[in-house]
Amino acid sequence: MISRRTAKAVKIESVTVGGGAPIVVQSMTNTDTADIEATVEQVASLARAGSELVRITVNNEAAAAAVAPIRDRLDARGVRTPLVGDFHFNGHKLLKAHPECARALAKLRINPGNVGRGSKRDPQFAEMIEIACRHDKPVRIGVNWGSLDQDLLTRMMDENSKLAEPLTALDVMRETIVVSALQSAQRAEALGLGADRIVISAKVSGVQDLIAVYRNLAKRCDYPLHLGLTEAGMGSKGIVASTAGIGVLLQDGIGDTIRVSLTPEPGGDRTQEVIVAQEILQTMGLRSFTPMVVACPGCGRTTSTYFQELAQKIQTHIRHRMPQWRKERVGVEEMTVAVMGCVVNGPGESKHANIGISLPGTGEVPVAPVYEDGEKTVTLKGQKIAEEFQDLVERYIDRSYARRDA
Ligand code: SF4
Repeated sequence: MISRRTAKAVKIESVTVGGGAPIVVQSMTNTDTADIEATVEQVASLARAGSELVRITVNNEAAAAAVAPIRDRLDARGVRTPLVGDFHFNGHKLLKAHPECARALAKLRINPGNVGRGSKRDPQFAEMIEIACRHDKPVRIGVNWGSLDQDLLTRMMDENSKLAEPLTALDVMRETIVVSALQSAQRAEALGLGADRIVISAKVSGVQDLIAVYRNLAKRCDYPLHLGLTEAGMGSKGIVASTAGIGVLLQDGIGDTIRVSLTPEPGGDRTQEVIVAQEILQTMGLRSFTPMVVACPGCGRTTSTYFQELAQKIQTHIRHRMPQWRKERVGVEEMTVAVMGCVVNGPGESKHANIGISLPGTGEVPVAPVYEDGEKTVTLKGQKIAEEFQDLVERYIDRSYARRDA
């Protein structure tokens, strides 16, 4: 059992971050926010995949003007997922000129490193916080080392160089990220924003930096922490780096909401970042979202693609059916389904799962025994094993998980 760090609870409309609430999955659109149709579609699809907060960039007048219509259209479709506005450079101006944008957003993300340069930085930061207070919106103070406050960094580097035993440049950089986040949060409080209206993030692109920065932050404040690697990358690299960094921190009990920042393949599905975030939480035993498919990797005993195809068909079927099951059935997300390649570990793993199938390996008798709650119930054979097994999963759910409306 992981013991979680105690953080204040921050209410973001219907979603609570911190205060011991389940760790929240969030995501960000990559549509042009001014394109209302495309943004509504993508928010709806991220929400359907399970994103509990969705961030949209608000980078210019057209984007700011589009936020309220986006909210209205989502509401009309029954998509209530809170929207977070991502502001850089001109947020104070956009929010002042578009109060309906501020009203439609559930939270504002402010990056203290680029809220304004030099003498403009403090008043522009103050303006953003005053707008958040006026509209009663929580704020994420989102530091990013790609846009770290350069004045603060220079000052801290100078002070460090005068020490008898100076820290390394990397350590000063990490410390500056933490200080930037904490000072900005304290300043926001001094300007009247409640401590229970602040979430902090401090994103970096290196796993070891992420772990060091968040461990430090976690010791020095009790604001809820939003975890994620920035610029995690594409494909398996992005998934592995995010999982390594976020996983270590979650195991330390650190983190109240997570986002996995994956670069999609051209034309790729944005919802992948939601699925990866859910899988990190579920495989660590922190939350359950969808029945887990336990599949063996296959080996020389499964020389055809038959086994991979079946495992993929079942996994896809479960993902596709889950939104409906979740609506109708209590606890179905905790189910485990085993799809195993041969008799070596197949029957054993199937017995541990709620329902499992052990396929015939190369040279084995072409039959597939199915186990339900540890007992062998049926043996499938022929060309329709995948479809028949899916039916068995449906029937298992039907009799094992109570209807919500019962
Ligand atoms: S269960 Fe069978 S097919 Fe799967 S990895 Fe083990 S030995 Fe190979």
